[in-house]
Amino acid sequence: MVKICCIGAGYVGGPTMAVIALKCPSIEVVVVDISVNRIAAWNSDQLPIYEPGLDDAVKQCRGKNLFFSTDIEKHVSEADIIFVSVNTPTKTRGLGAGKAADLTYWENAARVIADVSKSDKIVVEKSTVPVKTAEAIEKILTHNSEGINYQILSNPEFLAEGTAMQDLFKPDRVLIGGRETPEGRKAVQALKDVYAHWVPEDRILTTNLWSAELSKLAANAFLAQRISSINAISALCEATGANVFEVAYAVGKDSRIGPKFLTASVGFGGSCFQKDILNLVYISECNGLSVVANYWKQVIQINDYQKNRFVNRVVSSMFNTVSGKKIAVLGFAFKKDTGDTRETPAIDVCKGLLRDNATISIYDPQATEDQIQRDLATNKFDWNHPVHLQPMSPTAVKQVSIAWDAYEAAKAAHGLCILTDWDEFKELDYQRIYDDMQKPAFVFDGRDVVDPEKLRAIGFIVYAIGKPLDS
Ligand code: NAD
Repeated sequence: MVKICCIGAGYVGGPTMAVIALKCPSIEVVVVDISVNRIAAWNSDQLPIYEPGLDDAVKQCRGKNLFFSTDIEKHVSEADIIFVSVNTPTKTRGLGAGKAADLTYWENAARVIADVSKSDKIVVEKSTVPVKTAEAIEKILTHNSEGINYQILSNPEFLAEGTAMQDLFKPDRVLIGGRETPEGRKAVQALKDVYAHWVPEDRILTTNLWSAELSKLAANAFLAQRISSINAISALCEATGANVFEVAYAVGKDSRIGPKFLTASVGFGGSCFQKDILNLVYISECNGLSVVANYWKQVIQINDYQKNRFVNRVVSSMFNTVSGKKIAVLGFAFKKDTGDTRETPAIDVCKGLLRDNATISIYDPQATEDQIQRDLATNKFDWNHPVHLQPMSPTAVKQVSIAWDAYEAAKAAHGLCILTDWDEFKELDYQRIYDDMQKPAFVFDGRDVVDPEKLRAIGFIVYAIGKPLDS
């Protein structure tokens, strides 16, 4: 029986291994993590992450061929294939701070592998890492153990949170990069054999190691770039009376462009886009390619601009101040169908409103109170100036409360900001919300959730990103 161990039981490690276990009953899969709490949650009925379809998959194979454990050394030493799916955040200090990927977690994982391995191993980069990381990992492994053959493969993950399970069941492609040596090709084949249990052959792409590592950064940069492009157009639409959703539809009908990822919004979030673009910027700079670096920086600058623009619009619409006013915030997760709040635009929007002394009531169907309070209390790292910004004052954070539902959040509020595209926000009784709000009642839609005309008919003053303003 082939044994797989995955180091890192997070948003990627958990779902990917659940799908491998489900699709490959002949393979034993153990997911290990340094976090005792996370592993306990994976072994309970309350999984540590919310992802549609995940509960079912885990329930079907947990205890049969899928296991979660904190005994990292044991399971790494017994495995034939070791996936490493640890976090690779942006460095916050030292060389490359604010841009480069922090590979501390990866290096720690590699050192454990070297310490405990007694047989040959295939080590798979599942985390998103800078191009050439495999070279560094190879050095750590081979300098710390003798007589063991390590084959490093790059197998970046392209799943999107919220649709992770369907992305894993039917991936657009599985990418495997390996060394172009007989051992390298054998390792690539071994990983292909795992995916071949459910992924059609023509969707399994093999490349050299560096192409695979760089493809993941490039793919995320392209996706984010499309969002920033349409967001840049949304500002022009508001200035001219055009409607960005009509423009996006017309643009996306061109088969060379296509319709996906052209939805204007308050900005992109999530743990990956910004960090991976920063990583690309850093790698470009290290290779003396400053023009390339500046090109990709613009994608993040437009994203920051979009979030600021939204906050400024809220404040300026509400007679130039939100001081002492209650603002209801609907949605805190960075997108619908996930509880993940990492780098969510809601953090910047709420902080912007708090700086103007607003009182905020937040409702999100999945993000927890702890998460939200922690996100708002933590300093944002300014990638352009690698020093920490001033912390939010404790009084500002006290001006935040968490509501049980949208109606409670909106009660007596002066304004309502929609920051996540949860489906349930489309179905709300906006007449009831209007009746309970202060007048004039404002709605600021950052996610194309409401029909501005219907809300205007109720009596709301509506601002919706990229759409014609109130006349
Ligand atoms: P995560 O923070 O949810 O999970 C990482 C886990 O690794 C944590 O539970 C942490 O405790 C564990 N860990 C760290 N060091 C460890 C060690 N030495 N030994 C054992 N466990 C260790 O992160 P994630 O969202 O799953 O992302 C993981 C990687 O996948 C990142 O590189 C990310 O860029 C990439 N990625 C993420 C997504 C996404 O949508 N979240 C999609 C594609 C790729």
